[in-house]
Amino acid sequence: MEELKERIRREGVVASQQVLKLDAILNHQIDPQLTMQMGREFAARFAEDGVTRVITVESSGIPVAFAAAYELGVPMVFARRKKTLLADPDSYFERIPSFTKGIVTDLMLPKRFIKKEDRVLLIDDIIANGDAARGLVKIIGSAEATLVGAGIVVEKCFQSGARMLREQGIRLESLVRIESLGEDGIVFAD
Ligand code: 5GP
Repeated sequence: MEELKERIRREGVVASQQVLKLDAILNHQIDPQLTMQMGREFAARFAEDGVTRVITVESSGIPVAFAAAYELGVPMVFARRKKTLLADPDSYFERIPSFTKGIVTDLMLPKRFIKKEDRVLLIDDIIANGDAARGLVKIIGSAEATLVGAGIVVEKCFQSGARMLREQGIRLESLVRIESLGEDGIVFAD
């Protein structure tokens, strides 16, 4: 997705060698047209996989997961990051470290929103160490549903998450791959 790369070049802010701020397009402000384009791209890549449900984590995964689910014509469900007073006790829970918050959070997804018969597409905005994705993979496993693959908007290749998921045999498709962040700015992998 050349347009996405161009937007990242123009609007991304290198916060450190590890962190890229994408508040202008992914994490705070949302560009609906660009987001729908991402959704169409994921829907096209997983068109033959019989997806019945799209799963993500709140909050930054939600717009793109919605766009992919809309294009695939299936429901989208997101894991919440913490228990609230209204948390459904009949839920799957997974404790994960949060990359940006520097704390652990509990992912929570009600059991009624993921079934054994489901063929699930996991979507997220950015992959770093892969903890968020691994938490979702565990929830999908607990539900005995089938994971058809993961669609990630931005893969940071210099962190281990994407590689580890692929080593587990998970099909991971990313729209943009970043090789490094630093004095040379944002270096794309391809
Ligand atoms: P992971 O669990 O793979 O370590 O981190 C994934 C989550 O942390 C993503 O959902 C994303 O929101 C956030 N994250 C990871 N790296 C970055 C980054 O470089 N920039 C921003 N804005 N968020 C990030």
